[in-house]
Amino acid sequence: MTSQTNTLTPTNPTAATETTAAVRVLPNYIGGRWVPAEASGLIDVTNPANGEVLGRVPLSGATEVESAAAAANTALPDWRSRSVGERTEFLYALREAFRRRIDELAESITREGGKVLSDARAEITRSIEVLEVACASPMTMQGRVLEGVARGINTETFRQPVGVCAAITPFNFPAMVPMWFLPFAIVCGNTFVLKPSEQVPLTSELICRMLEEIGLPHGVVNLVHGAHDVVNAILDSPGISAVSFVGSVNTAKYIYRRAAEKGKRVQALGGAKNYMVVMPDAIVDKTVSNVLGSAFGNAGQRCMAGSVLVTVGSAQTAIMGKLKQEAEKVIVGDGRDPKASLGPVISHAACERIHDAIETGIKEGAELLVDGRRPKGVPSGGNFVGPTILNNVKAGMRAAREEIFGPVLSVMHVNSLDEAIALVNSDPRGNGTSIFTENGAAVREYSRRVEVGMVGVNIGVAASPAYFPFSGWKDSFFGDLHVHGLDAVEFFTRKKTVTSRYFSSGTTGKFFTEQGDKH
Ligand code: NAD
Repeated sequence: MTSQTNTLTPTNPTAATETTAAVRVLPNYIGGRWVPAEASGLIDVTNPANGEVLGRVPLSGATEVESAAAAANTALPDWRSRSVGERTEFLYALREAFRRRIDELAESITREGGKVLSDARAEITRSIEVLEVACASPMTMQGRVLEGVARGINTETFRQPVGVCAAITPFNFPAMVPMWFLPFAIVCGNTFVLKPSEQVPLTSELICRMLEEIGLPHGVVNLVHGAHDVVNAILDSPGISAVSFVGSVNTAKYIYRRAAEKGKRVQALGGAKNYMVVMPDAIVDKTVSNVLGSAFGNAGQRCMAGSVLVTVGSAQTAIMGKLKQEAEKVIVGDGRDPKASLGPVISHAACERIHDAIETGIKEGAELLVDGRRPKGVPSGGNFVGPTILNNVKAGMRAAREEIFGPVLSVMHVNSLDEAIALVNSDPRGNGTSIFTENGAAVREYSRRVEVGMVGVNIGVAASPAYFPFSGWKDSFFGDLHVHGLDAVEFFTRKKTVTSRYFSSGTTGKFFTEQGDKH
């Protein structure tokens, strides 16, 4: 699990007020009002590039969750009775607001999450794409009708909202992951409660302020800040019908089990260890740049990050020199610095965990090909780890097993595609994978046999676009219906089937017979 224990240690609220009175405590957004939480503690939200305290997150609990669920339930009858077109209009307005304020949103992501501004802008572009796909709801929410299941009888299936839906989201995509769920949930007629990561709550607040500005009816979207207590209250709340979760494997398993026990609909996306396989015929320059982008983009803090490179046969000699040379050129720095392509990791605790994983790798016998433990020229007070490559990693080593969730690439060497596939399939997770080759037969073999949800061919981060479903397999996903695409409409609606006849139009089929007789 990658949750950083230090972030869950509440500061003393009184002391916090005394020492830094200027730092704002974030309010919750419940029923259209910004309300202070009755929280028993606060967590500092820090800029990972320099340690600046940006705000304080209240550790809300069951009281706040029950208020949010009540507000969402109160808003539900009016919201779900509006036409699909009217609900979609709000998404168009939100999309325009996202486009207009893309710089502000990107800066918020970089400030609290650390990723470089170009990645933060790309995250907003992905969020806009989700909004656009959700706007197709007048088409995608349609049901089916069969005329004449029996004489004079039709059967139709239509879609209705599930009720109040909640999302619990991780730190690494402060806008995109909440936006995987929010647009589809509300356009399908549900109301919504968001519990963002306590490490990056500010972008979610900004999105809620934008929802307020576009005039979204009160209570349709609610925001509750906090950590474990809020999550547990969401899972147990009788007022919440469905839960979407994204985070680490152990938390995903826990969420899935506890929410399902309470009879809720659940989709829980977990962590990953993604393999990139390079075949001997791969085009070296392009492969290296994609591998590095995949391993070190967002400082390796992506569920789709390529964290294990597997060279097959002579690909090892073809690629390793160039890989080292290019990795050493990566510029580490504050995400707001346009020269930097690798920003800080989320917290001091994450930094320590990553250092520890690198040191364990060395102790277990891996070769430290590129050492990012002390990157040069970075701002003081930040959580920086430079690009790191551990070569000759063997199955069973920590660097092969653990999701390090930092800019650390483990490299393994095998002799055949079969061996590479066996290695990929031996991992308990199966989120994403990539193969680099120009050989179609190898691609077909690989894509068919790997037990992984998303496969890239000569693409380092094969995240599905919003009009396709996104999700891993095995321990990377617990549930049935994936994120976005048509799966989202399935997840956020319940199907109702109506079988009908009308006596006045001829139950026995007389009317139809008469009509038929006329022709
Ligand atoms: P995390 O599991 O620590 O936290 C995610 C959310 O769960 C947060 O909102 C947190 O408050 C809550 N939470 C954490 N521990 C909890 C507990 N014991 N009880 C109740 N609630 C708890 O994950 P993170 O560190 O924020 O995010 C990184 C992880 O998310 C990585 O493992 C990454 O691979 C994964 N991730 C997966 C995907 C995907 O699509 N599969 C996408 C993004 C991130």
